[in-house]
Amino acid sequence: MQITHEAIVQRARDSGVRLVQFLYCDNGAIIRGKASALPGLGGRLSDGIGLTVAMMAMNSLDQLQPVEGMGAVGEIRLVPDPASFVVLPYQPHTAAMMCDMITGAREPWAGCPRSFLKRMRARAAAHDVQLRAAMEAEFSLATRDAAGVYAPFDRTLCFASTGMAMAGPFASDLVATLESQGNIVEQYYPELGHGQHEITIRHQEVLRAADNHLWLREAIRGVARTHGLVASLAPKPFADQAGNGAHIHFSLWDANDRNLFYDSTAADGLSLIGRQFMAGVLAHLPALVAITCPSVNSYYRLQPRAWSSAYAIWGHDNREAALRVASPFWSDVAGSTNLELKSADSSCNPYLALGALLAAGLDGIERELDPGESVEVDPATLSDVEQLERGITRLLTTLDAALDALEADALLLDALGPLLARSFLSVRRSEARAYAAMDEATQFTEHFEKY
Ligand code: GLU
Ligand code: MG
Repeated sequence: MQITHEAIVQRARDSGVRLVQFLYCDNGAIIRGKASALPGLGGRLSDGIGLTVAMMAMNSLDQLQPVEGMGAVGEIRLVPDPASFVVLPYQPHTAAMMCDMITGAREPWAGCPRSFLKRMRARAAAHDVQLRAAMEAEFSLATRDAAGVYAPFDRTLCFASTGMAMAGPFASDLVATLESQGNIVEQYYPELGHGQHEITIRHQEVLRAADNHLWLREAIRGVARTHGLVASLAPKPFADQAGNGAHIHFSLWDANDRNLFYDSTAADGLSLIGRQFMAGVLAHLPALVAITCPSVNSYYRLQPRAWSSAYAIWGHDNREAALRVASPFWSDVAGSTNLELKSADSSCNPYLALGALLAAGLDGIERELDPGESVEVDPATLSDVEQLERGITRLLTTLDAALDALEADALLLDALGPLLARSFLSVRRSEARAYAAMDEATQFTEHFEKY
């Protein structure tokens, strides 16, 4: 049932909220918005807050790009989704909502990433399927010295109890925040890199999953701030440490709450529709990665032997494969059979990433594609000749090359639509150019602070 505007105003008042942020995520995956004070909140929940169309042509360095249809003239409205209201416990007297970009004619704007995901969700519904997903957040906790240099908060080992102890007060606050926002938190642990930690939440219907990843980004950074720390979800926070992925776990469900990826008669439990969906994702992977790994920093992470999935292959629990058939839970095999796209990080816009994933997967179903042989070995242990024979290829190694692949992918471009496609390409191309002109240390710091 839709939550009424009156109920939201009441909740804001009851929670002692003074400002409600109306947020969106742009082409550079920066979370931006404006906040409404309480007196005008009721009106703004219906009318939205005005935003110049040019903001979707702004890159992550606040450099405005020349994009046709996103100039100095024209406005859209940020209209919040009532179901997305959350109080931010790490920020005094503040709540936030995720918005759609709506035109003066009260239609979803063609440049709106969240509306794009809704379109793809409707495309899935036409196939009688619903995508559910969760993005795993790997992040780095750091301190900042007087000179503004970031250093990992700890030097503990992967999954080490010492790391859990050091980050304990932060981690328990983070869990409390996420639970207060309606999430089911699954797991928390220190990861491989110095200062690196990971938290996972229960999968949700795809639009909510995308919102959730933004709330997760906000909460991780916000809670860290309250502990005098800085958190970053940048794909490669420190040049000499493990990268931060945002692996996407996903499955398709029918109207009877049945997981369509599961087939008890399949040797690995993955159904035909699951294989076809995966084959579609594999077929579009070089282009898709431009959307799921869309920053210059992403390509420092996507390296062989880093478990970040540098290869366009699939496998069973193969951590070097872009697509992994994840082992299900013993107690709920039918419900937990899922695929994981590891070639994704938190410099992506989750609406674009999940929408494009859906478009690619549905294409696989429509064309009844087959994913081919799985790879059950680390490709880096094979010779070049063996890799060639088995059709194992690296993912593209630079942002520009990935954007070229996206520009050549008619299906994904068509799904995005011309305005969103050209603004995304223009913004990300401009970032590739701007960061190429910086020294590496500055580049790392810029990404560290933005994601
Ligand atoms: N940190 C690795 C990455 O960059 C993933 C490690 C793992 O959870 O398997 O994606
Ligand atoms: Mg991990």
